[in-house]
Amino acid sequence: EGGAVGRIAAGEFAVLLADVDADTRRGDREARSLAEAFLIEVQRPLQVGDDSTTVSLSASVGVTRYPGMPHDTPQAALGRASTALRRARLAGDGRLAMFEPSMAETAVRRSRLEDELRRGIQAGELQLFLQLQMRQEGDVAGAEVLVRWLHPQEGLLSPAAFLPIAEASDLILAVDRWVLAQVCLLQLRLKAEGRRMRLSVNVSARHFQQSDFAETIIDLLDRTGADPGLLTLELNENVLVADPDDVLDKINRLSTLGIEFALDDFGTGFSSLSYLKRMPIHEIKIDRYFVQDAPADAAGASLLESILRVAQSYGLRVVAEGVETEEQACFLRVRVPDIVCQGFLFHRPAPASEWLEATEDAILATTTRGG
Ligand code: C2E
Ligand code: MG
Ligand code: MG
Repeated sequence: EGGAVGRIAAGEFAVLLADVDADTRRGDREARSLAEAFLIEVQRPLQVGDDSTTVSLSASVGVTRYPGMPHDTPQAALGRASTALRRARLAGDGRLAMFEPSMAETAVRRSRLEDELRRGIQAGELQLFLQLQMRQEGDVAGAEVLVRWLHPQEGLLSPAAFLPIAEASDLILAVDRWVLAQVCLLQLRLKAEGRRMRLSVNVSARHFQQSDFAETIIDLLDRTGADPGLLTLELNENVLVADPDDVLDKINRLSTLGIEFALDDFGTGFSSLSYLKRMPIHEIKIDRYFVQDAPADAAGASLLESILRVAQSYGLRVVAEGVETEEQACFLRVRVPDIVCQGFLFHRPAPASEWLEATEDAILATTTRGG
């Protein structure tokens, strides 16, 4: 009451709340709880037509105060709300963010990095890193491919520094496709040297959700002649639960070719276990968060133990991420004898050329064990 709603862009609405408490803390709390109530309302599934078809919508909210600074203008306030909104979207669907001044600086840096990344991909600044995955000492199960960006001024950037920016736009498609194409070429190179190795590639949610995702993968394999039977695509839980029919369809189509699917960062998503059980995947990757605290910390150890049991109950290949100590490797192997370990204890991610040299012997020793 006393407020206003306006549509300000194709999928964007501005809500103006009048009469919020003048006290900043209480006012913010009021705005936050209204926005939360709004998000819950928007996400309520809607029944469409006479049958039981339901659709659900999602939204994100950015909040700011007006006036929020000296000489404030409505335009500036809308700009702050947009900045907060972008932050909320980055955190995933259905999130809310209150504007903070530090976001403005971040926003400037983000938009600069976004331009630079767009140009950097064209200029060949992305790099392929690989990290071996080990069953036992000397027994290579495969390798995970990890992207890096060699920024002309800032040096080598890890995915955390630029993937969130790429993921907020279609730039992530360019990154993922570049990586996939490189992986196919790398596979051909390995093949030419008489080596075989399963390579795991991360696929972002936005990429997987493209309607032509399966076609572009099939097309890439056709064009390069790479072996689908040596390719694993890593998806996280949030991707798998987004649109079950679509996910099943894509996974099934690509699995027919021999491509395998891994559930990445297991345990960190929001999905129900019974639901995941229905997904036709081949591998579960336990997030390093759960590996880190065990076995030194008792609570961490029992948590990891339960997670291992759940992972094992799926009857799939289990990979543990972030294995850094002998104790952790031992803890894991005692409980899951054929577990695959990936971590600094065995190998650090290395640039493709270095990795090719360093792993020559390791791969030759286990040429046919692709998993
Ligand atoms: P992820 O897929 O879970 O990859 C594992 C991360 O754990 C990698 O971080 C790896 O360097 C790190 N790691 C491996 N062993 C250890 C260890 O023993 N200790 C610690 N502390 N860390 C370890 P990285 O390379 O920074 O990648 C971060 C995330 O970025 C990846 O997490 C993945 O989600 C994403 N990512 C990387 N490359 C790509 C890509 O080409 N496409 C997409 N869409 N995402 C990617
Ligand atoms: Mg991964
Ligand atoms: Mg992971």
